[in-house]
Amino acid sequence: MTPVDTVAIVDWSGGNDTGPRPRRDAIWLGVTRHGQDQPPAYLRNRTDAETALATLIDTERSAGRRLLIGFDFPFAYPSGFAQALTGQADPLAVWDWLDQQITDTPRANNRFEVAGAINRALGQGRGPFWGNARPGHDIPGLPRTKAGYANPFADRRAVEHAAPGSFTCWQLAGAGAVGSQVLMGLPVLARLRRRFAGHIAIWPFEPLDRPVAFVEIWPSLIDGAVKRAEAQGGIRDAHQVRLLARALARLPEPDLRAMLHVDAPEEGWIMGLGHEDKLEQAAAATDAATTHGADDGAEDAGTDTATPLAPPPLRDDCFALPAGVDWTPVDDALALLRTRLHPVVAQTDRPLSQALGRILARDVTALRSNPPQPNTAVDGYGFAHASLTTGDQVLPLVQGRAAAGIPFDGTVPPGHAIRVLTGAALPAGVDTVILQEDVTATTTHIAFRPGIKPGANTRRAGEDVTAGTAILAAGRRLTPADLALASATGRAALPVHDRLRVAVISTGDELIEPGDPAGPGQIFDANRPMLLGLMQQFGFDTLDLGRVPDNRAALRTALDRGASGADVILTSGGASSGDEDHVSALLNEAGAMTEWRIAVKPGRPLALGLWSGTPVFGLPGNPVAALVCTLIFARPAMGLLAGAGWQAPQGFDLPAAFEKSKKPGRREYLRARMRDGRAEVFTSEGSGRISGLSWAEGLVELPDGAAQITPGTPVRFLPFGSFL
Ligand code: AMP
Ligand code: MG
Repeated sequence: MTPVDTVAIVDWSGGNDTGPRPRRDAIWLGVTRHGQDQPPAYLRNRTDAETALATLIDTERSAGRRLLIGFDFPFAYPSGFAQALTGQADPLAVWDWLDQQITDTPRANNRFEVAGAINRALGQGRGPFWGNARPGHDIPGLPRTKAGYANPFADRRAVEHAAPGSFTCWQLAGAGAVGSQVLMGLPVLARLRRRFAGHIAIWPFEPLDRPVAFVEIWPSLIDGAVKRAEAQGGIRDAHQVRLLARALARLPEPDLRAMLHVDAPEEGWIMGLGHEDKLEQAAAATDAATTHGADDGAEDAGTDTATPLAPPPLRDDCFALPAGVDWTPVDDALALLRTRLHPVVAQTDRPLSQALGRILARDVTALRSNPPQPNTAVDGYGFAHASLTTGDQVLPLVQGRAAAGIPFDGTVPPGHAIRVLTGAALPAGVDTVILQEDVTATTTHIAFRPGIKPGANTRRAGEDVTAGTAILAAGRRLTPADLALASATGRAALPVHDRLRVAVISTGDELIEPGDPAGPGQIFDANRPMLLGLMQQFGFDTLDLGRVPDNRAALRTALDRGASGADVILTSGGASSGDEDHVSALLNEAGAMTEWRIAVKPGRPLALGLWSGTPVFGLPGNPVAALVCTLIFARPAMGLLAGAGWQAPQGFDLPAAFEKSKKPGRREYLRARMRDGRAEVFTSEGSGRISGLSWAEGLVELPDGAAQITPGTPVRFLPFGSFL
């Protein structure tokens, strides 16, 4: 396998929901992406864990990153069990079998019943499973202890003989037992494997030639590093997943390969067993390098992120289409783009003043809590609530005051009050503030009515954001409010992607520049100003490469300039397969172009290809088709290239204000706008009608199949703004 971009480690649990507060012996997920640790995630039950894992797989795949996920429980049972249980010697058949039998909710599951049933079927009710964590509730066929126990299979896998301190997967209860985790873990893995069929390889049973690999790991292999981290405080499981993810992510490639090189086709293996020193080294070396506690320094400017991280190139075949398909449905075309493209822009740390509108390259956490210390939310008087008496209050004032940025040094004695101004840190001895409008004040005393609640008019430290928690997620286009949040929580710089640079070229002998004298048969270039404008609205840098006549040499020169000066090239015109369709002809010649015949209207074939490694989107020449194809296909693809992930436009249903009978076969986009809560469409559907584009404020999307639309029929409206 090629090296992985992202390593995730899961510390599993066979028990029930562990509640809202992070705690040990729950499920924990540690992720290290491109060498950067993410804060470990606490997952209170397996339902949440399954969702988190599916999201992770989705995110990494759509970003084109290779992902390795390690789980801390056996992937298989001792030899012979799969055959006896399922009739096949395939350990993955056990996964599917268990998925069929196990029922699981955050509050209850049937693992002991299933184990009892297996024992009755395969071991006369005396084994292979034993152990029952339900006091007073016996399970037929499941021995509670090893008394009377008989196991028709081996007690341990070969790997467990080589791993002192490991537990047998047959033991379902008792401290350290792993059996319940296996029964409750394999069904989840089986579902993920089906859901992402063809994208996940299960080690060591399948070749590692897919973008995602599941491996079996064992946190005890890095016990030394975990113990040292634990001595500094924090939850053991969180340290385990964080350190193990980091260790695997930072292993030199030959070591990683050596660890993956095992032969255990039936029982599986623990990755890294026998290489403990290498793992400990990788975990410890990196641990010493960062000493920022909860934050781990992963996003700090000035470490290894100061030099831009250059992304890998796109694959040559990223625009290939499945053979033999005539017209590709829109959703298939989008799904292909989504799985094949990944960010092509480098990432750098930039000061907040340069970050607006850029795309965040990594998840970012708060360095400091907001507010950093308890403070007052109003102008008034502060005191200790516990020192109040019953009835009306008269409190002497201490000398001095506390204002924002000018704290009061002393301590306010019980039964006293102090003048405080909005934003001031609460002085020692103060936990409650009364509004100045609610008191009668002299220079020495204040008086007020009873009834104020403890803590009134104060803000708790960290009530908005606690240090160390996630504040902004990778892929986000930074808004002014994001900059406020980053600044308030101590971030002076943010890891952002370079802006995607897009070259725009118009092709056609008929085109002239607006303002030029127009001869017969000539038209002014409409697409270029439109496409350049769209790219700017998307937040990209543009490179205007002008108009190019229908002539290969000229087009070649323009494409060369685009490939050297931009990350993406957008052309319009000449994209079909006619005599003057030089864009497709040239890209074809270069051997890296595919004509995408997408079942969409408006839109003739799109020509997608790589020119010297730079992706080219060859749009149709008709302005309406050029705009629709840009919004529907190029926009989400460019979002991926730019590091923002896959963004589908957010539309909503509106009653139609028009009538239309739509034939099946092609998805259709109509120029539309919303008036009085209904969707109006432009009178003419002609794809050269630029006035209709300008009239429209969005698109109505009609489904691939036939549709009969009458006034009032709900139709999907996609405002132009939702593509930004
Ligand atoms: P083509 O895709 O090159 O066959 O062009 C299809 C139609 O779109 C023709 O009528 C072209 O004249 C027109 N067209 C192509 N490029 C532009 C452009 N940049 N501005 C306005 N119309 C264009
Ligand atoms: Mg043309």
